[in-house]
Parts: sequence; structure tokens; C-alpha cells
Amino acid sequence: MGAGSDRPAYVGMGRYGVNATRLAGPPCTREDESLRIREIRVFAVELPLLEGSYAWADGRAVERFDSTLVSVATDDGLVGWGEICPLGPAYLPAYAAGARTGLAEVGPALLGCDPRDLDLVHRRMARALKGHPFVKSALDMACHDLAARAQGVPLATLLGGTDGEAVELYRAISQDTPEATAAAVVRYRDEGYRRFQLKVGGEPDVDIERIRAVRAVLDGGEVLVADANTGWLPHEALRVVRAVRELDLYIEQPCATLEECLIVRRACDHPMVLDEIVDGVGALLAAWRAGAADVVNLKIAKFGGLRPTRLARDLCVELGIAMTIEDSWGGDVTTAAIAHLAHSTPEPFRFSATDFNSYVGRSVALDPLRRVAGRIRAPTALGLGVEIDEEALGPPILVVR
Ligand SMILES: [Mg+2]
Repeated sequence: MGAGSDRPAYVGMGRYGVNATRLAGPPCTREDESLRIREIRVFAVELPLLEGSYAWADGRAVERFDSTLVSVATDDGLVGWGEICPLGPAYLPAYAAGARTGLAEVGPALLGCDPRDLDLVHRRMARALKGHPFVKSALDMACHDLAARAQGVPLATLLGGTDGEAVELYRAISQDTPEATAAAVVRYRDEGYRRFQLKVGGEPDVDIERIRAVRAVLDGGEVLVADANTGWLPHEALRVVRAVRELDLYIEQPCATLEECLIVRRACDHPMVLDEIVDGVGALLAAWRAGAADVVNLKIAKFGGLRPTRLARDLCVELGIAMTIEDSWGGDVTTAAIAHLAHSTPEPFRFSATDFNSYVGRSVALDPLRRVAGRIRAPTALGLGVEIDEEALGPPILVVR
């Protein structure tokens, strides 16, 4: 462009790699095309657990999930869906009522935005509400659904394109007696799963028996992860890993801090997975520098949506870290989002993913995504590829327009 000619609206590249006028200017609208968010609706959705309850470390358990669905509509009639479903209020720093309060706070900031401007969507949300990534995750998911629908592609295409045939799923095994957990593994193996995440993090002697009982019913090609969910102190974790040293398994998130996990890591022969403490790129890099994890667990809501989780995923690929791709919990919308992100992750880096909608007794989709033989594929329809049964949702609890 010659000197003195009409300057474009984009006047420079800022630290985010975007034009400075957009960073500075309050309205996030396009002049050339019409695709603006005009309405956000929020729905409360109760998801009862098919097994009756789900228990993990320190005696924590839930019997039903209090999920929140959001629909984001544009002025030309496109609708995208997102979901945030914390694992109760005492797992991660997230809770259902907080999600809804936060959506009322941050939702108005997205009115008028083009949902395809995903970086801008996040900057608008950051300006409206500091922190609270779980709140923003549902809106980010809905905007990704919209952005892919507007482009006429499945979301996995927007996330890099699918790799391989399907994604291997793990089945979480609720904390129970050693005999009951082994029986649950056999039951779910009969349904096609080949990877199992056993909930430990309780009394070490019982956890050792749980691990031995489950490993005894597994074959060589089947994967066992013992997930303590931060429930052990280092001395307890050390007792467990020494007692099961000869067994083939992964140890996940033994203790509450990176420093404590490193004490276990140095004394442990097993590959280690980190989950709860890897909640952003900074924490991911800290774990990598410390050599603390062979696998990390990327939960979409923990990172604040698909955009920041994709950033962490791509970084893991560069750093050589395998991943479990999932979320805190959820139903049909979350499961579809997981499938797209996981299936678009390079196959050698996919440790596992989760089909959360198979754990609960309620569907909100006309065409819920279902696993086949313990594996899942990203839907090939546009966007998330999930059509919501709005009649089954009932009236929204919040409308922002
Ligand atoms: Mg975990």
C-alpha cells in the first residue's frame, strides 16, 4: 500500500498478533459482514448419574451433575451451544451457581461481537471478568460452534483437522472396595473400554489393594491409571508406589502441589500424569521444566475454553507430552467438544479422552454422540455436530440480549 493512500482499519500488530484498533476499540463488530451475537440464553440441566454416585479422593462424591448449557445466537439466525459442568463444588475452583452468576456478568460483553473473532471474544471476556475460566469456557465453546458453522465445517477442522480413525476413551472407575472396582473394570471392558482410570487417593493400604485387584483382571494391552486426585500426602503416595512397583500402571496427580508430586516422581518408576495442578500454560511449562509429567490432563473448563486448551494442546505437542483431552464433566455438548479437540490432536499424543454423556441418564441432544467399541469420533456435521432438543431443556434461567 503506497504512502498517503487510504490506510486500512488495521493499524498495527499488538502483542496478541491482532490489530491495535480492535484492542483499543470497544465495539467488536465487522463492517463488511453481518454476524453479530445478539442473544445469549442460559439453561440449567440436571444430569443424574447412571451408577447412582461417583466417588473420588477424600470421601468426595456426587450423585448428580448440575450442568449449565448456553446458546449463543447471531443476528442472522445461527445458534451455537456450549456447556459448563463442574464436578460438584469441591473438585476444581468452579461450581454450578458460580457459572450462572458469572455468565450474567460476562455475557453482555459479547453482545455485538462476531463469534468468529475467537481471540477478541476472549479479550472481551477478560475485560468483563477477571479469572473464573470455567465461566468463560461455555461461551468459548458456543462461539467455536458458531465459528465452525459459519465456515461450513466441523469444529475439528477449525481445530486442525482430524488425525486417525478414532479416539481411545478411558472409563473412570468410582472409588469403592477393591472387589467392586475390579468388577466394574470387567463390566466396562465388556462394553469395549481398554483404558481405566481408577479412583484412589484414599487410605494407602486400601488403595494398594484396589490397584492390585484391578491390575489382576486386566490384560497386557489394557491401560491402568491410578488417579489420586491430590488425595495423598507424599509419605502416603510413596508407600503406594513402592508397594505396586512391579505392576504396569500410571500414577495420576498423587498430591496437591507440584513440589509434593515431584517428591513422589523422584521415587517412582511409573509414568506420571498431572491433572489438577496443570490449569494453564504457565503451570504446564512449570511441570515440563521440572520433568514432572509424562502425560497431562487437559480439561476444557479448567483452561477456560477450547481456545486456551488448544494452545496448551499444541504446546504439549511441541514439548513431547501426551495428553488426556476432556473436561471437568458434562453431557452431550461437552462430549462433542471433547471429541473434536481430541480427534484433531495428533494421534501419538492422544493418551485418552472421555465420553461423559455415557455416565449420565439424561440426553439433551436429538443425535447424541456415542462411542463405538471404547472409541469415539468427532462428528462430521457442521460445528459441534450436536442438535439440541430445546423442548427437553425447559425455559432458560437467564437471557442476555
Ligand atoms: Mg484426574
